[in-house]
Amino acid sequence: MIVQQILTSKSNQTVVTVRPDTPVSEVTQVLTENRIGGVIVSASGDTADGILSERDIVRALSKRGPSCLSDTADQMMTKNPVCCARGDTADQVLQGMTDGRFRHMPVVEDGKLVGIVTIGDVVKARLSQLSMERDALEGMVAGH
Ligand code: AMP
Repeated sequence: MIVQQILTSKSNQTVVTVRPDTPVSEVTQVLTENRIGGVIVSASGDTADGILSERDIVRALSKRGPSCLSDTADQMMTKNPVCCARGDTADQVLQGMTDGRFRHMPVVEDGKLVGIVTIGDVVKARLSQLSMERDALEGMVAGH
């Protein structure tokens, strides 16, 4: 299974981005409204300059208190996130997420943002593939 198949299987393929000067207070609303755990920070709207996740916000809140909410997204984001390509395998993406201890990965082609995959997307797609393989094997054993 490759990243393109995971992207195609997603019911919502919108990639939510915010501009670097967006206040973190506004980012919390973007995360809530879109029911997501992280956003890509992008000056142009089609590059992954950084990523800002709910974990970054919770960490800053616990260290510095509510004043961190007036930071801008680029002050709190992780710069130059680890990205993947459409042709990378699901296993490569899971390995990268496990090694880096993060749950989001932008998908980039020729330097341009073309999607995002989360650990949830990868696990869901793998489970559905395993279920199809099991059905096929059961069919073979039963002689259909
Ligand atoms: P997450 O588990 O994705 O919510 O993120 C945990 C931490 O990793 C946060 O500090 C994020 O900014 C950072 N992070 C998330 N995704 C990536 C990525 N693809 N590359 C590098 N850092 C990331």
